[in-house]
Amino acid sequence: MIKGFEEYQLSNEISRALKLLKYENPTEVQSAVIPAALKKQDLVVKSQTGSGKTAAFGIPICEMIEWEEKKPQALILTPTRELAVQVQEDISNIGRFKRIKALAVYGKEPFSKQKEELKQKTHAVIGTPGRVMDHIDRGTLELDQIRFVIIDEADEMLNMGFINDVESIINELPSNRVTMVFSATLPKDVENLCYKYMKDPVNIEIATTGGIATDTIEHRVIEVQTENKMEILKDITVVENPDSCIIFCNTKDHVDTLFEELDKSGYSCEKLHGGLEQEDRFGVMNGFKIGNFRYLIATDVAARGIDVDNVTLVINYDVPAEKESYVHRTGRTGRSGNKGKAIMLATPYEGKFLKAIEKYIGFEILQMEAPLPEEVSKGKAAFEEKISGRRVVKNNKTARVNKDITKLHFNGGKKKKIRALDFVGTITKIPGVTAEDIGIITIKDSMSYVDILNGKGSLVLQAMENTTIKGKQLRVSKAIK
Ligand code: AMP
Repeated sequence: MIKGFEEYQLSNEISRALKLLKYENPTEVQSAVIPAALKKQDLVVKSQTGSGKTAAFGIPICEMIEWEEKKPQALILTPTRELAVQVQEDISNIGRFKRIKALAVYGKEPFSKQKEELKQKTHAVIGTPGRVMDHIDRGTLELDQIRFVIIDEADEMLNMGFINDVESIINELPSNRVTMVFSATLPKDVENLCYKYMKDPVNIEIATTGGIATDTIEHRVIEVQTENKMEILKDITVVENPDSCIIFCNTKDHVDTLFEELDKSGYSCEKLHGGLEQEDRFGVMNGFKIGNFRYLIATDVAARGIDVDNVTLVINYDVPAEKESYVHRTGRTGRSGNKGKAIMLATPYEGKFLKAIEKYIGFEILQMEAPLPEEVSKGKAAFEEKISGRRVVKNNKTARVNKDITKLHFNGGKKKKIRALDFVGTITKIPGVTAEDIGIITIKDSMSYVDILNGKGSLVLQAMENTTIKGKQLRVSKAIK
């Protein structure tokens, strides 16, 4: 039986964040993982994306992290940069009121920037194996206090050829640690790794129906000829008229072509594939999250790790060649109890891939006809109206958790010998402000950032304009970021 979060006797800080995130009851994987993780059990967890697995490890890690410790205590390895950033966001949200500092490190971002950030107190580091190795080799990531290690999407690490890097990293870690492996499938190489490096791991298996949801996602396939695909795609968007939609293609070229065509036809859309600069990729993902556009055209780069509230429609413009990919792509819709729809276009040549997917997911995807001309013309007016308006995003979790938080910028830091405690000491002297109202403090060489919680930002800002810290008057303002 699934119990409520109160069963785990989590601290007030964590419970408060869960309430704001609207996590009322643990998901199946959470109710299996959280109690075991709190007991510091090594775990091998077979569960799909969309099952709530990030919070399954995020909640116990945030609960067990010791805030005072300066060096990283949790290391989370992910196969992609996008997932690293998503996990960092989730951990920061869960740990917001405990002031947990989570940092994502991944390739393509300047090494020096991450090196500077790692010098600050950092509780959890989330990274891709290559960049984490770099930091270890160059001595910029200290490992002696690591007590929690998570290998997320281990099967994907294997597919991407990262498993040796993962093994080398594990070899560097303190032996007194809790290790958890999460994977949608458990190929032999992953299993071997688990048994080699874990202490009596407990196996947790969450039935795949949790991942490939049939109760919340309607799965359909339309048989098409290659030359008609574009037209049928457009007809589908008119008839379905989704609030938000991801269109998946197998290649960058298809994404580029589709984007050009839809953009020309006035769709509010953006594209995402591995050929774009990292900054642009994050920009596009963020834009989609906050509702800047309605249609995202993407390769599998977007199939994992993007957590957008309420993608209502997923279209597989191409049948994915990897059967697992179907699960990840369609898992972008029908999340956290919402209803979703997944429509796939399949040419006769793709029959064998379709069969492999159906075998893998354990059911036959229902066939449907391409939209009829009269359906398309009936839907046209509503479609035109929606496409000209802005997408309204409800429920942005991070925004909810950060609602009452103001980031203040001070023009002094380490060079002026200012430490976090100096800020705490000074700010808590302001009438009406307590230590509970202070969030993450980041001290750089010549500037500092202090998060003020509970809507008290303006109060603290005003007071600090006329208050010295360690005898020094610093300039204070709301941080731009
Ligand atoms: P994940 O499998 O980690 O990608 O999570 C899937 C989605 O479920 C994310 O949008 C989470 O924010 C959401 N989620 C995780 N745990 C819960 C919960 N206990 N209640 C409601 N939503 C949740």
